[in-house]
Amino acid sequence: MRQLHGVVVGGGMVGAACAAALARQGWQVTVIEAGTVGGGSTAAGMGHLVVMDDSPAQLALTSLSLELWEALVPHLPAQADYRRCGTLWIASDEEELFAVHPKQQQYLSTGRQATVLDTGELSRHEPSLRRGLAGALRVPDDAVVYAPVVARFLLERAGADVQHGEVIALEDRVVRLKDGRRLGADLVVVAGGADASSLLSELPLRPRKGHLLITERTPLKVNHQLVELGYLKSAHGSEADSVAFNVQPRPTGQLLIGSSRQFGPVDKQIDWPLLRRMLDRAADFLPGLPNVSALRVWTGLRSASPDHLPIVGPHPDRPGIYLAVGHEGLGITTALATAELLRTYLTGEASPLPGVSLGLERFGAGEHHA
Ligand SMILES: Cc1cc2nc3c(=O)[nH]c(=O)nc-3n(C[C@H](O)[C@H](O)[C@H](O)COP(=O)(O)OP(=O)(O)OC[C@H]3O[C@@H](n4cnc5c(N)ncnc54)[C@H](O)[C@@H]3O)c2cc1C
Repeated sequence: MRQLHGVVVGGGMVGAACAAALARQGWQVTVIEAGTVGGGSTAAGMGHLVVMDDSPAQLALTSLSLELWEALVPHLPAQADYRRCGTLWIASDEEELFAVHPKQQQYLSTGRQATVLDTGELSRHEPSLRRGLAGALRVPDDAVVYAPVVARFLLERAGADVQHGEVIALEDRVVRLKDGRRLGADLVVVAGGADASSLLSELPLRPRKGHLLITERTPLKVNHQLVELGYLKSAHGSEADSVAFNVQPRPTGQLLIGSSRQFGPVDKQIDWPLLRRMLDRAADFLPGLPNVSALRVWTGLRSASPDHLPIVGPHPDRPGIYLAVGHEGLGITTALATAELLRTYLTGEASPLPGVSLGLERFGAGEHHA
């Protein structure tokens, strides 16, 4: 029997996970990457593997993703820097702490652990935080990972043929590259991250820029990924530029500090006033931070759909094209569940996310045509 051939456009975390899913089903896999594997948003992000509960769909997607990450961990190379450090969702005041209890119930309902910390317990877990914070929700099984290494690992393990090149058009089961090459495929998976709309202009995706900063190695001790509860408003609330306290301890003793969100600019320039706001916010929670030097600042683009959930599934109007795009600020976390959805699509098995619709068609007839 002829071996089926899949072409994956994009060698980021999502494309690599999808390539691995195709290979697991016995497909021959070619990945076309215009830059370097894992060098797009995958390298720009924080690599926080986090369950989030903004919507039932997001909770189901991220919970499944964490389970899939936990199954992958024993196979990861040490350079992937995976650590199950947990997340602390920090409540600044009593009102925020009150909101932590329903959040805890959501986590428990999907089988994830979550405990509420009062102000004293929070100080004991994280002595570097300012005193007087009301408490936190501790989600101990959240983790961090260095995603570019994972993307490379998945592609190597899958035996994928990674080719350098830029895809400029998708024709009927043919991928056309800028250098004139044309590749035939039984299925084309579009995993082009923030650039996917240049191939398929009907995708309702917008870039959302973020800044990150990494410090020198510092004795300022942080044990968990620390995120203020107000992050949720920043992540999904308004159209305006926003910042939120989000700090990750790196295995090296450095601190990775986020995060900002900006619709509009697609350049990689640093917005210094916005970075200042982001650091002031971080210092408000970690008073020792102004004594720590910054080593590097960079920006990256998240690719946002109108409902902040990824677009995953067969293209409703283009047979032979499968979409794996729009993962916004959760694409490292949700890449594995995205690939699992692709795998079940290939096998015809029931969706691992019953009742969750991530296809492009959810944006309505005609609405997805820009
Ligand atoms: C500041 C910031 C912080 C983040 N923090 C987190 C976090 O803590 N946790 C989390 O889960 N997520 C986080 N994210 C989101 C996460 O990084 C992205 O959702 C994820 O990397 C998307 O992966 P991807 O493979 O879709 O895209 P990418 O990594 O961008 O990969 C797409 C690849 O496709 C290639 N490509 C595009 N078009 C073509 C073409 N036409 N031909 C050939 N190749 C093409 C590109 O070169 C690129 O390498 C963060 C993002 C940012 C910006």
